[in-house]
Amino acid sequence: MIKPDAVENGHIGGILDKITSAGFKIVAMKYTQLSRRDAQAFYAIHKERPFFGELVDFMTRGPIVSAILEKDNAVEDFRALIGATNPADAAEGTIRKLFATSIAENAVHGSDSDENAAIEGAFHFAGREIF
Ligand code: GDP
Repeated sequence: MIKPDAVENGHIGGILDKITSAGFKIVAMKYTQLSRRDAQAFYAIHKERPFFGELVDFMTRGPIVSAILEKDNAVEDFRALIGATNPADAAEGTIRKLFATSIAENAVHGSDSDENAAIEGAFHFAGREIF
């Protein structure tokens, strides 16, 4: 996902350029907005964390871009491309270093395993939307 902060700040094009330039193929993509129910379900793993309410407020406050990306070693390579959760700790040239503003508003989400990538892909897309 390209998160609401990055959409608000006009970074959709810049982020997609970094992604495709790094060799990822976009196999599904949409411009959409999460409901509170969507965000609570997507981030259910964090529901006991103190920032859960803030996270849901943030992720629902405006539109996002969701996408499924394909590449060899995609999960690990995408995590490297986006950088650390906190942009202050992210390596130079990473998407979060370039486009994120804080640990909360960090521009992009990337799946953390192949298993979660499959679950998250099915959360956002019907089979007929995946190419
Ligand atoms: P990620 O896998 O790098 O996205 O990081 P996590 O799974 O640890 O956290 C999920 C998301 O929760 C992050 O991308 C942030 O948007 C948000 N988040 C993480 N830590 C904090 C925090 O301390 N405060 C707030 N408000 N949000 C946070």
